[in-house]
Amino acid sequence: MEKTIGFIGAGNMAKAMIGGILQAKILPPEKVFLSNPHKEKLEAMKKEFGVQITLDNKEVAQRADILVLSVKPYLYSKVIQEIKDEIQQYTILVNIAAGVSIESIEQTFAKKVKVVRVMPNTPAQVGEAMSCVCVNKEVTKEELQEVMDIFHSFGEAEVIDENLMDVATGVSGSSPAYVYLFIEALADGAVLEGMPREKAYKLAAQAVLGSAKMVLESKEHPAKLKDQVCSSGGTTIEAVACLEKNYFRSTVIQAVQTATQKSKEMG
Ligand code: NAP
Repeated sequence: MEKTIGFIGAGNMAKAMIGGILQAKILPPEKVFLSNPHKEKLEAMKKEFGVQITLDNKEVAQRADILVLSVKPYLYSKVIQEIKDEIQQYTILVNIAAGVSIESIEQTFAKKVKVVRVMPNTPAQVGEAMSCVCVNKEVTKEELQEVMDIFHSFGEAEVIDENLMDVATGVSGSSPAYVYLFIEALADGAVLEGMPREKAYKLAAQAVLGSAKMVLESKEHPAKLKDQVCSSGGTTIEAVACLEKNYFRSTVIQAVQTATQKSKEMG
């Protein structure tokens, strides 16, 4: 790819995306620009990835063909005011913030601007992100394809309607945290039963990875895959009954709803 990509904000999400992009070799590090208010964070990113760093958000906005606003949602309007005059007609602005709509960005600019709204997640860092993407009408098909190529370089990416972005946040943007809780709890259970902790994390994480792969690759309904593990009178159905008794599925459903609602309120 000939283009440059810029990140304003050097936090978790920028790190995950930069790690993914460089690992996939879709762009060399000298075409990746990054700004952040604290020098130490920038220097650590330069050391790890070899990307171009600056304390000046405007400089990144000037140099990037594709500009990712990787700051917290409440900082979006402040940062946009700061960089607004540096944005060119060809600049593609990538909004990854939970709850920030395309319309609100267009209004802050008060001029025509190309906006791509994406809900990625942190497994980008290991090439396994799930990113949901939508665009405004200023973005051409070719430009959408370029952005999709970037997001495909570190995982799966799907175009969705903007009205599904809040639920995408609940089910994939935020869900790595729920999965880590589950893995931690699985491992704690094993530790309680006498397994060394490191081994317990490995067993728990590999079981989650393998089960997710089964769902994606077998295309079977998750309930059917669950039934295959539960033999009559066996150990697994005992555990499943315990989870059901303690509202496991209902709690997870409510967690997704809560995150979706929070994303709507932030908009
Ligand atoms: P984060 O780790 O807190 O990173 C935000 C970065 O922005 C920090 O490095 C912060 O610097 C920097 N920053 C603060 N003020 C700034 C300014 N005025 N100009 C430039 N940089 C500034 O947050 P994150 O988790 O990466 O989230 C970034 C965005 O991604 C959010 O909008 C979030 O909704 C979205 N997102 C996150 C995830 C996720 O799993 N984390 C998933 C999907 C979407 P200092 O810390 O040095 O002050």
